[in-house]
Amino acid sequence: MSTPSAPENLMEAVVSLAKRRGFVFPSSEIYGGINGFFDYGPLGVELKKNIRDCWWNDMVRRRDDVVGVETSIIMHPKVWEASGHVAGFTDPLVDCKASKQRYRADQLFFSPVIVDGKTVGYVSALESDDTAGALQAAAETFKRKKAIQGQLAPVIAKDMTEAQPDEIALIPSPATGEPGSLTPPRAFNMMFETHVGAMRDASAIAYLRPETAQGMFVDFKAVVDTGRVKLPFGIAQTGKSFRNEITPRNFIFRSREFEQMEMEFFIHEDDDWAKWHRYWIDWCKDWLKSIGLPDSHLSEYDHLKEKLAFYSKGTTDIMFKYPFGVQELWGIAARGNYDLTQHANASGKPQDIFDEATKKKFVPHVIEPAVGLDRIFLAVLCAGYAEEEVKDEKGNVEKRTVLRLSPRVAPIKVAVLPLLKNKPELVARAQALYAKIKRKYAAFYDEAGAIGRRYRRQDEIGTPWCVTIDFETIEKDGTVTLRERDSMQQKRITEAELFALLDEQVY
Ligand code: ATP
Repeated sequence: MSTPSAPENLMEAVVSLAKRRGFVFPSSEIYGGINGFFDYGPLGVELKKNIRDCWWNDMVRRRDDVVGVETSIIMHPKVWEASGHVAGFTDPLVDCKASKQRYRADQLFFSPVIVDGKTVGYVSALESDDTAGALQAAAETFKRKKAIQGQLAPVIAKDMTEAQPDEIALIPSPATGEPGSLTPPRAFNMMFETHVGAMRDASAIAYLRPETAQGMFVDFKAVVDTGRVKLPFGIAQTGKSFRNEITPRNFIFRSREFEQMEMEFFIHEDDDWAKWHRYWIDWCKDWLKSIGLPDSHLSEYDHLKEKLAFYSKGTTDIMFKYPFGVQELWGIAARGNYDLTQHANASGKPQDIFDEATKKKFVPHVIEPAVGLDRIFLAVLCAGYAEEEVKDEKGNVEKRTVLRLSPRVAPIKVAVLPLLKNKPELVARAQALYAKIKRKYAAFYDEAGAIGRRYRRQDEIGTPWCVTIDFETIEKDGTVTLRERDSMQQKRITEAELFALLDEQVY
């Protein structure tokens, strides 16, 4: 058996597996799809639910200091004015007038082509794993095509937000390769608008929420008044968010409808925010590891102080090594008391808490770990996907595709396989065990085809264990063969041992 390894084009393999085995499909595909929207199929919905449930159990149920809420997707439009989203939730957008393509200005890079110290033109490239390399290659092609002699200088990659007004007309559009069609960047609000009620005028405008966080801020007082919570405490929720992303891309990594899992952790204004910030970064990293993401793929990125919003004390992103580059997975922001103060001012309803010790009122500060469920889903698939060569029963070498998913999140925990489908006593025994497992754990019953083929089908969808019911089970001691996905090792165990294993590993 060779060591499992990721294929050359991991992303392609993951997208193909996701579609083939019913994890993720493009939305409305029979009508040609709709860019930035996805559907989760029978296995995908289980995987997603398991990730969400693990987060909810660990973040809310197993803690005494975090409570949950589920707030509405459409909220009073004033929420988004107070939060700053109406004015400022924008991305810089560049249009190509010739091709009608739109680009995020901070994802469209350019460089002057400098030969013998003189700028002879410009090249552009969309952000990628190797943007500088792409620009350098484009500069070399440019020089060759124009038959320019001399020494080509290394490119200087800048994005379109840094382009000088006189440069914009000279930068080629990535769509046409010709300069002259790109517009200067302009602010584009990413909130989806809708109308509430029968009127379609400005007074009826509402927004699909671009984040779940504001629900927790707006309900802060209502939660405090339930009397269950004392500082420091958190309010958490999971749910859909919507952003009209200019360039949805990288499969479900950046989509227009996605699910967030956010928690607002409120602390005393005099509490040590840096300590709590660090605490939550570590918690989030440990949690990602607990659902099977390897430490080697995780890193931290501290946002530069000068790029932070004025109220922000610090933001650290947990980054994940995706096949298309190291990208933000989870943002942990120390937001001061900005959000509650904004809502207190805009609504006229104080959002403070009375401190018994100092007999003073104050507005709590907040640490916010915010993560996208779809991004975790993709990370789990990418980290788990491997291909390897193994020998089948006859000794022939074949390729095995395996999804090494943690038992915590695997869509199916156990597959129950009768050794032969034409032996009623084996089938009856297998179905009885299957029914028993299903009461607590997601299981799958499969009697079709050679046992090796049935194992492969489970390997590909990440099922950690297969149990086979054979003649020894019914004629001897009732033990079953447990086959482990990653090592492919088999051993005989009792039913009680099987349930003990599941209880320990699936939590
Ligand atoms: P990015 O810089 O990638 O656009 P962001 O910094 O705007 O993300 P936040 O507003 O901090 O993201 O949102 C919190 C989390 O929600 C992100 O860390 C990410 O996991 C997830 N998320 C944000 N936008 C999207 C999207 N378009 N598709 C999927 N997940 C998203």
